[in-house]
Amino acid sequence: MASHAKRRLLLGCALLCAAALSCVELNSARAENQAPVVAPSLPVASDARLAGDAKLTRFVLDLDKPVQFRAFALADPYRVVVDIPQVNFRLPAGTGASGRGLVKAFRYGLVLPGGSRIVIDLTGPARIANSSMLDAANGQPSRLVLELQEVDRETFMQSMSTEARPESKPALADGSPAAAAPKSVPATKPAAPDARPVVVIDPGHGGVDNGTQSGGEAEKNLVLAFGLALRDRLEQNGKYRVVMTRTDDTFIPLNDRVKIARSQSAALFVSIHADALPKHEGDAQGATIYTVSDKASDAEAERLAEAENRADAIGGVNLTDEPTEVADILIDLAQRETRTFSNRFARLLMGEMKNATRMHKHPLKSAGFRVLKAPDVPSVLVELGYVSNKGDLDHLVSESWRNRTAGSMAQAIDAFLAKRLATAGPAN
Ligand SMILES: [Zn+2]
Repeated sequence: MASHAKRRLLLGCALLCAAALSCVELNSARAENQAPVVAPSLPVASDARLAGDAKLTRFVLDLDKPVQFRAFALADPYRVVVDIPQVNFRLPAGTGASGRGLVKAFRYGLVLPGGSRIVIDLTGPARIANSSMLDAANGQPSRLVLELQEVDRETFMQSMSTEARPESKPALADGSPAAAAPKSVPATKPAAPDARPVVVIDPGHGGVDNGTQSGGEAEKNLVLAFGLALRDRLEQNGKYRVVMTRTDDTFIPLNDRVKIARSQSAALFVSIHADALPKHEGDAQGATIYTVSDKASDAEAERLAEAENRADAIGGVNLTDEPTEVADILIDLAQRETRTFSNRFARLLMGEMKNATRMHKHPLKSAGFRVLKAPDVPSVLVELGYVSNKGDLDHLVSESWRNRTAGSMAQAIDAFLAKRLATAGPAN
């Protein structure tokens, strides 16, 4: 049943997904209750409050010293994100749970060492009419003040499109704390169009979802370290724009990872994982490269896809909210072509990786991984090895192994994209 609505949904996705991308940012702030290690010198946020009405709402954060900040608005759902250097939140219990005026509620927390974030959920479209950091005066502490003004959706979307897209560069993702970011509200200049092919690197798991675990090493950390090494490697030659689905210990739902790839019109999506075999199933070793298929290539591939797809359940994502696979003849065709490319890349990748690391005895497999289901982005999932295997685990924690293996992946990506770009003609 090739429903028109579904096709529209897919076509509309370019727009919607751009917004969905910001889930990276939104989710980041969900780490709020993971009590950070508090250095004594951190600024302290002691209170936050709202004032005003549904036309103009003011958000005020009290601090014991001024901090630099960056604030920007995002759509679908409407919200304002405020990035600040790491602060020690000592707000009264329940702060942010309820709203006022244009603000539904707000959350806050540490998003990475050195960076904190406040996410303000809005009742509707609003612009940041004013923002300032006020010095302590008249018995009042230093205050970060935002004034939010009601606007219509059209105005909101226009202001978003003229701003540099914060999504493409998660505010703190490059490791520089917000302190380095200039206060840019809301007049950010449009970014120069970047026509380079986009490679999306997707370190699996994150946040509450640890992935597999062994010897005190969690998969989520191992694959993040690997993903960052691969990013650095790819960025060295400057030929690609590299987008990470996460750069810190954040939970990202599987569908959002796919949306990131699609909204960026990625040329390639590479998901990074590390497997584990239960003790009673013996020992296995080496890297395996997976592509998507409706039917698993063998029982182990099926088991693994099931395990990896459980990430959403662990993270509390309600799967009934997620659109199911789009069934449409056009999408079918796109998908078939995409799978051909995915398989081509998987073979190239195996050819390169086997020079750098040991591979599983059956290194190319397929199964129904949710994260590989973008119909228009060639996608593979790499299980770097087994954390349950001593030798593999030694590799996974080794920096020289990581760099060598990331280097081999970068070479395969180069070979794959060189060929694709040659056949596709010059980039537009
Ligand atoms: Zn995994």
